[in-house]
Amino acid sequence: MTGTMADLAATTGIEVPTGLLIGGQWTKGRDGGLIGVTDPATEETIAEVADATAEDTLDAVSAASAALPGWAATAPRERAECLRRAWSLMIAKSDALARLMVLENGKALPDARSEVTYAAEFFRWYAEEAVRVEGSVLTAPSGANRILVTRQPVGVSVLITPWNFPAAMATRKIGPALAAGCTVVLKPAKETPLTALAVAEILQQAGVPDGVVNVVTTSSASRFSEAVLADPRVRKLSFTGSTEVGRILLKAAATNVINCSMELGGNAPFLIFEDADISAALDGAFLAKMRNGGEACTAANRFYVHEAVADEFTAAFAARLEALKVGPGLDEGTELGPLVNEDTRSKVASLVDEATSAGSRVVTGGSVPDRRGYFYAPTVLDNVPPGAGILGEEIFGPVAPIVRFSSESDAVSWANNTEYGLVSYVYTRDLRRSLRVAEALEAGMIGINRGVVSDPAAPFGGVKQSGIGREGGHDGLLEFTETKYIAVDW
Ligand code: NAD
Repeated sequence: MTGTMADLAATTGIEVPTGLLIGGQWTKGRDGGLIGVTDPATEETIAEVADATAEDTLDAVSAASAALPGWAATAPRERAECLRRAWSLMIAKSDALARLMVLENGKALPDARSEVTYAAEFFRWYAEEAVRVEGSVLTAPSGANRILVTRQPVGVSVLITPWNFPAAMATRKIGPALAAGCTVVLKPAKETPLTALAVAEILQQAGVPDGVVNVVTTSSASRFSEAVLADPRVRKLSFTGSTEVGRILLKAAATNVINCSMELGGNAPFLIFEDADISAALDGAFLAKMRNGGEACTAANRFYVHEAVADEFTAAFAARLEALKVGPGLDEGTELGPLVNEDTRSKVASLVDEATSAGSRVVTGGSVPDRRGYFYAPTVLDNVPPGAGILGEEIFGPVAPIVRFSSESDAVSWANNTEYGLVSYVYTRDLRRSLRVAEALEAGMIGINRGVVSDPAAPFGGVKQSGIGREGGHDGLLEFTETKYIAVDW
């Protein structure tokens, strides 16, 4: 290992546990295996965390199962208070958590800071929701009896999260699960386990009882999922990650008919009409493309720009991207950090190379900078042919392909020409057009004259192969409950 845990604590200001959290105890795991965590800006190992075996994973399920009856029976107000304390602790430690996230993920410090605020907000929002789990009572149409409907916690929940938002993807699941009365086993991505472990420790400090939140880090995601999905005590799988892995997990979850929520990949179109406020569209496009360095499921992946404004938009957008300060996320003034690892960077580079060979024009970027770390230059590609591969795949990097259109119907049909349907963005000053297009776009979320849609109070999620279910808002809580109908004759 290049750096020590003491170095990490000195740089971040936080001491992070590196074991597995099982039943309230931090343990090294049964065989003492370790996984290295790499700083994408230096390619150096900054920490090592425990590598769980299948038996460790099942110990975590046992702990969650043992804690379930007590937590489900805990007063909603008390569950809410734990979450509220966790929110306050996260805010108090936000600078340290942001620095930690930069080191394991690579994102620039301003992105990490806004993620911590966003992530903590899921604890506050679900503290408020924990006391609002409603049911209903109605009279049967025959008038003979009553229909009583209640909601109960779904049970032991397995949460699997990606590396791109290491804090928010965890709190967006833990918050509603705990509010609903469920206990959880969280498996963070092996690239970014430290943030999840720090959040778990915060939950302990907030008074969450032992066994309610368990965290298992592992080098083998399939070893983990095979163990948990075969265990009949597990009743819920909440997954955020790629559509490819989502499909594998849905198949595996079918054996025990496990309740699944799936937040999967995106391929967001960003439509700019000829009547748009171009300066606002530039701000929105910049946020939608560059937030988190382009490593977001909501990232604008394809820009469809009306031909009347395409030259103006393209030149101004390229100038903005070119002016970005690229460097290690903790360096003063850095606006764009490295990608998370070499695989991600080579995928971005090959998509750009392929688009260029297909006739796209590189307006800016299009290259791997000559420096250490997994950097890729901010890139704008113009005149991308509508059938180019880069328009069909998640880029997950700082690359903006621009396609010109001349009719609204082409723009909408090209935007919908994808198996994904997470989010779409529309810029126009015409209210009727914005709502007409919003209705026609096949996506779970639409940003109208906005480049960011995420909000803990809003239902986040996709249609088509972008997912099943919603996170955030009241809907996010319902995902961790089961409806129970009680037929009553009174
Ligand atoms: P990924 O699918 O490779 O991994 C996600 C998580 O699944 C990680 O924890 C990984 O270890 C785990 N995993 C991988 N194979 C597994 C298996 N066989 N069994 C169990 N777990 C397994 O995705 P990623 O590269 O970490 O993240 C990027 C992807 O996540 C993108 O596709 C992005 O769009 C998506 N994402 C979606 C949302 C959303 O809310 N819709 C949010 C963030 C990221």
